[in-house]
Amino acid sequence: MRLETLKFGINDPAPHHAPDVAVLDANTGNLCCFCGQPAGLHAMRIGNAFSCVLCGLVQSLHRTSIDEELRLIWLPEMSQPALNVLVRQIHIDLQELGESVYCDDTPKSSEGMRPALYTAQRILRERHETIAERLGSSRASDLADALTALADRHVGLQNLPWGGLRGFPTGRFYVGGVNVYDETVSSWRGKSKTLMQEVA
Ligand SMILES: [Zn+2]
Repeated sequence: MRLETLKFGINDPAPHHAPDVAVLDANTGNLCCFCGQPAGLHAMRIGNAFSCVLCGLVQSLHRTSIDEELRLIWLPEMSQPALNVLVRQIHIDLQELGESVYCDDTPKSSEGMRPALYTAQRILRERHETIAERLGSSRASDLADALTALADRHVGLQNLPWGGLRGFPTGRFYVGGVNVYDETVSSWRGKSKTLMQEVA
């Protein structure tokens, strides 16, 4: 079965089969098991594996805030871990320049690296139009609903032709209804109070 044939926007979603995911409130200093980068603040424990926020989101499509945090894009030329490492670096650089990391925001000025960072982010973001054409939706929650329905029918999800489907992190991550992603980016920059206390 090809993903393109799926009927998205299921009105009566089946119960989600969510993986065992926990968001950690301290910086453990662990590396992300999926992209190899420091997991940082608000990392996730997925089963026995540590995950950074970006890699964790792709595996947490059941989150109620997922459409604010992740958009589906078509990017066959880059793997999901490589995309996450790229997005992480864009967000680190934007924050160091005092800019918002959210993908729909524009830089306050055109000085320095801002135009290049903004353009890279915009190109990635615009790839969601291709997904919308192919699948009829670029909402991560619609994919979660479809995957749940498939799992209920005992379809081998790992055998689906995922092709160039990727999750593009928007630059937001919610814990308890509060966007804490800026704190996560700060921890990747070595600005985490928790990490500094641990080092001290
Ligand atoms: Zn990661």
